[in-house]
Amino acid sequence: MPPIASDALVLKTSKLGETSKLVILLTRERGKVRAVAKGARGTRSRYQSALEPLSEVRVGLYGRQGTELFRLGQCDLVRSAFPAGGRGLETSLTLSYFAELLDAFAQEGEAEDAVYRLAIAVVRAAEEGRDIVALARYLEAWLLRLAGLYPQLDRCAACGNALPSGPLAYHHVTHGFVCASCGPASGPVLQKPVREFLREVFATAPSAVTTPPEAARVLESFHQNLIRRHLERDLRSYRVMHDVARGTA
Ligand SMILES: [Zn+2]
Repeated sequence: MPPIASDALVLKTSKLGETSKLVILLTRERGKVRAVAKGARGTRSRYQSALEPLSEVRVGLYGRQGTELFRLGQCDLVRSAFPAGGRGLETSLTLSYFAELLDAFAQEGEAEDAVYRLAIAVVRAAEEGRDIVALARYLEAWLLRLAGLYPQLDRCAACGNALPSGPLAYHHVTHGFVCASCGPASGPVLQKPVREFLREVFATAPSAVTTPPEAARVLESFHQNLIRRHLERDLRSYRVMHDVARGTA
C-alpha cells in the first residue's frame, strides 16, 4: 500500500522502546496523527534533526484507513525549527507552549487546513523575531475562534445588539461580551487598545500585527480562562513558562 504523503509540523516526540520514537504530527492532510518512527534514536537514524518539535517536514505515513497509530516512513526536513541557537529562555519556553497548545486543540484524523496554516504562519513569524508574547495571544485567539470558543467582538452576547466602540465587558454567564443594558458584567473589561489588538489579530497575518505588546500581556489571563474552560486542565508548558516568568521578573 502506498504511503499517505503530507506536509506536517512536528509537535512532540517521546521515547518508544529501545530505539524508536513516538511522534505527534500536525499534518495538512489528516489533522493530528501519531506515528512510530522506528530506529529514530539510533546514532545512524535516517531522521536525524527532522524530528525536532516545530520542524516543518514532508512525511510518508503507513497505516490502514482509520488507524490510530501510523508508521513513519520518509521524513524530509523542509524547514528546520529555529536553527538560531541564540534564542532566549522566554522564546524557548513559549515555543514549547505553542507545540502543546496545538497538540491540545488539533483534532485527530480530521484535516483542518485553517489550523495547519495558522500554525505554520505563527512559527515562521516567531522565526522572524516577531514579539513572542503577541504571537502567543495570536495563536490562542485563533485556536479558540476556530474551535468556536472566542466571544464575538461586535455583538452583545445577551441581546445581540451591536456593541458600541470602546471597552469590551465580558460576562461569564453568557460567555461573551455584553452591552451596558445587559450588564453588569462579571468582567474582565478589555480596554480599547486590547480590543484594537484583537481586531488586528482577526484581520491580519501574525507577522503583520503592529499593536504594542502591552495589549497582548493584558489578554494572557483572559485567554487562559477560556482555554482552561475548554480543555478542563492547565497545559504543563504554560505552567512552566508562567513560573519562570514570575521567578525571573
Ligand atoms: Zn445586550
